[in-house]
Amino acid sequence: MIPITVVDVQDAEPLVLEVLRSGVIAQGPMVKRFEDAFASVAGVPHAVAVNNGTTALVASIQALDLQPGDEVITTPFTFVATLNAILEAGATARFADISAVDFNLDPEKVSGAVTDRTKVLMPVHLYGQMADMGRLVPLAQQHGLTIVEDSAQAVGATFEGKPAGSFGIGCFSLYATKNITTAEGGVITTSDDALADKLRVMRNQGMRARYQYEMAGHNYRLTDLHAALGIPQLEKLQQLTDARRHNAEALSKGLDGVTGLTVPAVLPGREHVWHQYTILVGDDAPVTRDELAAKLTEKGIGNGIYYPKLVFDYDCYRDNPQVIASDVPVAQKVAEQALSLPVHPKLTDAELETIVSSVREVFGA
Ligand SMILES: *Cc1c(COP(=O)(O)O)cnc(C)c1O
Repeated sequence: MIPITVVDVQDAEPLVLEVLRSGVIAQGPMVKRFEDAFASVAGVPHAVAVNNGTTALVASIQALDLQPGDEVITTPFTFVATLNAILEAGATARFADISAVDFNLDPEKVSGAVTDRTKVLMPVHLYGQMADMGRLVPLAQQHGLTIVEDSAQAVGATFEGKPAGSFGIGCFSLYATKNITTAEGGVITTSDDALADKLRVMRNQGMRARYQYEMAGHNYRLTDLHAALGIPQLEKLQQLTDARRHNAEALSKGLDGVTGLTVPAVLPGREHVWHQYTILVGDDAPVTRDELAAKLTEKGIGNGIYYPKLVFDYDCYRDNPQVIASDVPVAQKVAEQALSLPVHPKLTDAELETIVSSVREVFGA
């Protein structure tokens, strides 16, 4: 079996033991060390660690002091956490369609979703490739919107040399399957000193110094035990990303030109960090996406459908007045055709060849 993802945190052992021996196991010096390393990866002065990526999104929106009815524009083709965070923070979600080329928000569709209640633009840098920030940033400026980047899948990705999480308020996930993991965890990145300060106070029950409360806060803290897991990975992030890139290139070289199969595009000016390697199974393919997925599973090739449906297209959101569904034909089509293949850094060249030949076999190519 070739798994779709592999977790490797073994070189964190010395740091984890250091935490255990220190007796400081909740938020302490290791979180600070992790934050400093993360801030430099994201190219910003501040990284605020929190207990997961969803919390990072919630806290970022909460810090903006929105009013009920204020709106966030995001993509319908994302993990459910993007939507759940908007709802938990009390805002209303609107959706603009995506581009089938990079799977991200299509800037041309965003203007049509702006209303006089829109306050936030929340692009998701899906699969590890950044959204078209060259056009989204001016759009946000034109409409007076704050950018919150859901960078959960894009640690280390860049757009014209600028890292994910440095264009707006950056929100990262450190969940077990993400490119960098602390088992569970999240990070908020910002260049805004006052915002970073507010998030740090909010994270710790609204407390600046012991029992001095400045706001109704929360417990959003990450632990030193978790931070210790992430530090060695941050140190070798470039190596890990290079391995993912090598694997993606091998897959694309092997799968390019197969009729009915579209390999993922890397757009000019963008450094893709390959959280997922996602192909499209077109209408002209000899099999459907679901048939391909089943056949690959049979052959022992891990694969994943991220995501089978649009995020708002579930009964639990149907009657929610904070969820404003819209017509998004491109995202609808992509949700029917997208399939992710293994691209994680542990793949061997032999496994890459097996993945390529198995897919080609199912396509009869
Ligand atoms: C993983 C993920 C999140 C949520 O992160 P958690 O750490 O699991 O809470 C949010 N958005 C996207 C796009 C994700 O992939």
